[in-house]
Amino acid sequence: MTAGLKLVCHDCGSTNRVPPEKLGAAPKCGTCGAKLTDGKVRDIDFRTMEKSAKSDDLPLLVDFWAAWCGPCRMMAPQFAQAAKALAPHARLAKVDTQSNPDATVRYNIRGIPLLILFHKGREVARLTGARPAADIEAFVRQNVTLGA
Ligand SMILES: [Zn+2]
Repeated sequence: MTAGLKLVCHDCGSTNRVPPEKLGAAPKCGTCGAKLTDGKVRDIDFRTMEKSAKSDDLPLLVDFWAAWCGPCRMMAPQFAQAAKALAPHARLAKVDTQSNPDATVRYNIRGIPLLILFHKGREVARLTGARPAADIEAFVRQNVTLGA
């Protein structure tokens, strides 16, 4: 077995392996060159999200949102701030439920914004409603053990 943490690139969807000690050293995707743990929130499609949620070795927090949803737009800067605070030990991404209706069905989403935390291939916890950055960060820290 190859050593390293599995991480799906949120730009191109390919799977990378990153040595744990390189997590904080701006590792890049071997396929497209995008940074894997830069703490920036990317808008990803449902397929990439599913792949990332199932195979990543780092926790993944997904913000299910839509452009018509006022609270979702209000929360975006808070979510981005939490992503920076949690990098490189957890990754945050967004899925637009309007262009990815499969996500709504698959996760039985009844209202947005909805945050779902995934780790080790499964759903760990959910948080509904718009939240400040500190709450988002605390939610992740309470539900998964992050690297030092
Ligand atoms: Zn890539």
